Amino acid sequence: MAVSIDIDALREAAGADVCAAADRLTVAGEPAEVHPLGGGASGLVREVGQPSYEVWVGVTADGFTVECDCAADADLCPHAVALTAAALADGFPWSSAATPPSWAEIDPRIAELADLARALPARRLAALVAEWAATDPAWESRLRAQASQAAPHTAAAMDGS
Ligand SMILES: [Zn+2]
Repeated sequence: MAVSIDIDALREAAGADVCAAADRLTVAGEPAEVHPLGGGASGLVREVGQPSYEVWVGVTADGFTVECDCAADADLCPHAVALTAAALADGFPWSSAATPPSWAEIDPRIAELADLARALPARRLAALVAEWAATDPAWESRLRAQASQAAPHTAAAMDGS
């Protein structure tokens, strides 16, 4: 069953600061693409000088639900508001029973290791991944593929050199 999302109510719940940050993202054309995922919308938000954030929004049994890499304290972060605005502009077909990405079945061993990795400071994690990639060509190409997805501008600049 399809359901509609009231962006005005959402913006009111998010507050003025979050909306202002979301509007800056929208003006910058972020997220560039909106993908359907589990009945909700998923997108990658890039900001200059900031890490890329993968964000998902959808309507679940619990109501409007957000999952975002930024781990903001508030339920509604600018990335979620910008993604919702982009999805609505696209006429996105919202499911009324969406499944957030975190509900997808994950190998418990991978989940445990992901928890460990999440606890590391970003710089240490980056150094660790780089070490792996430097010793394993398969890892290196996976890293490069992920990086070009996350930051096409950088990848394009590197290809041109
Ligand atoms: Zn966010």
